[in-house]
Amino acid sequence: MSEPIDQQRDEGTLESLPSTDLYIDGEWVPAADGETFATVDPATGDAITDVAAAQEPDVDAAVDAARAAFPAWRDVDPDERGRIVYRIGQLIREHKDELAAIESLDQGKPRSQAESDMIGAARYFEYYAGAADKLEGKSVPIGTDQVDYTVREPYGVSAQITPWNFPGNLFARGVAPALVAGNATVVKPAEQTPLSSLRLTELCVEAGVPEGVVNTIPGFGDPTGQALTEHEGVDQITFTGSVPTGQHIMQTAAETITPVTLELGGKNPAIVFPDADLDAAAEWITTGIFTNAGQICSAADRALVHESVYDDLVEKIVDIAASTVVAAGDEDEDMGPVVSETQLEKITRYIEVGRKEGATLATGGQQQDRDGYFVEPTVFTDVEPDMRIAREEIFGPVLSVLSFSDVEEAVEIANDSDYGLVAGVFTADITRAHQLTRDLEAGNVYVNKWFGDTNQTPFGGYKRSGIGREKGLEALDSYLQTKNVAINLEGDAD
Ligand code: NAD
Repeated sequence: MSEPIDQQRDEGTLESLPSTDLYIDGEWVPAADGETFATVDPATGDAITDVAAAQEPDVDAAVDAARAAFPAWRDVDPDERGRIVYRIGQLIREHKDELAAIESLDQGKPRSQAESDMIGAARYFEYYAGAADKLEGKSVPIGTDQVDYTVREPYGVSAQITPWNFPGNLFARGVAPALVAGNATVVKPAEQTPLSSLRLTELCVEAGVPEGVVNTIPGFGDPTGQALTEHEGVDQITFTGSVPTGQHIMQTAAETITPVTLELGGKNPAIVFPDADLDAAAEWITTGIFTNAGQICSAADRALVHESVYDDLVEKIVDIAASTVVAAGDEDEDMGPVVSETQLEKITRYIEVGRKEGATLATGGQQQDRDGYFVEPTVFTDVEPDMRIAREEIFGPVLSVLSFSDVEEAVEIANDSDYGLVAGVFTADITRAHQLTRDLEAGNVYVNKWFGDTNQTPFGGYKRSGIGREKGLEALDSYLQTKNVAINLEGDAD
């Protein structure tokens, strides 16, 4: 067992690591062939522990268990289903410190940010629990000789493939609405960060979720995720991650006509007009790009700044970036390491690309000289719209600052992207703000803020940023299909 765990145990924050087996059909079991993989502490590069790696037979067992458990779970009285799901939320609150310690250790994020993720996870279960007995259909007036109504029914087995940036929070974001709608689930957490999902699974069991209704099978994209998404027994797929993997999953799902909800990447523009509060805009934008070390699909990747305030705003942003403290997650400073060596290499490659493309490196740009995967908060200025650092998702703490001269140009640059997840507008002019919320091609638009979304608001992408919506009542649509029932009252066939 590696040192950081012992240290955290001494501090009394990490009560126990979760089981590191697979959770299938109500039991913790090793992978059928005994295969394991190491999950790594990004602050040191050391292995934390070995976790069972699900292979094809394990995927089969998990899907079979979910299929078998589904009808009874679907038929649990909705208010009782809601109560069980609510209890999961309460248990997460009770265990939030321990969950935050696990998340921070496995993912790298500062402890207080991990805690906030866990409160968010609890909120998903609490929020959706209340919907369990409100999933109503409607009656359709089609004439006096028939009665017609709709029923909203769960799909059956929901496969959930989660990424490594918000592992525990996104476990909750998908599992809570899936369960409330009456589906059974098979969750494949990202291989970089399986631990919080395993602990959350334990809490689902403790809350009274019946055997087979939640199955959690850590493993790699291939074979585990691949076997899960091509499985004939899966009725619905929820995926969060990269565009290429999302495209691949959609192609795989096309074989079995399985519906997919995809939440993919972004290259999100934050547009700053001269009348904006520049101090506030600088704070929001730096929060938007340096939180979670920039590893957020909705990060503020591109600042588009009016030319008249460009230098002023850049100075403020650079000041904040340069004073952002980077440290291991358990030191709870502003920013932790990035999740993995692969991610560190990707980010440092992009920093090199930015330099070569001729952008000005205003601050940062270096990997820190220490163990683990630490990279400095980085700001590029004089970025042009056709540069790769202005177009491609870096998924790291790297901000690209561009300039514009009028509103038409700002909208053109903002929308000239394959992505359409989030956009932000900073202005004191309410009319301009409203016009831009209409013109920007994004599933989510912030005005004079960044982040701070709640569980209640629908979230998802336009264009290649995804299909369907997570969060809010709209997310339930991904987990329910509509059955129309038409009853003849008097008419004959002819
Ligand atoms: P990824 O999309 O490959 O992985 C996300 C999840 O998909 C993981 O659980 C992974 O095991 C699984 N997966 C991979 N291949 C699969 C397959 N063939 N079938 C089923 N599941 C599969 O992302 P990554 O490689 O971990 O990261 C690469 C890039 O993706 C990042 O640099 C970032 O740009 C982006 N990303 C985006 C998000 C987001 O929230 N939108 C999250 C993580 C990563």
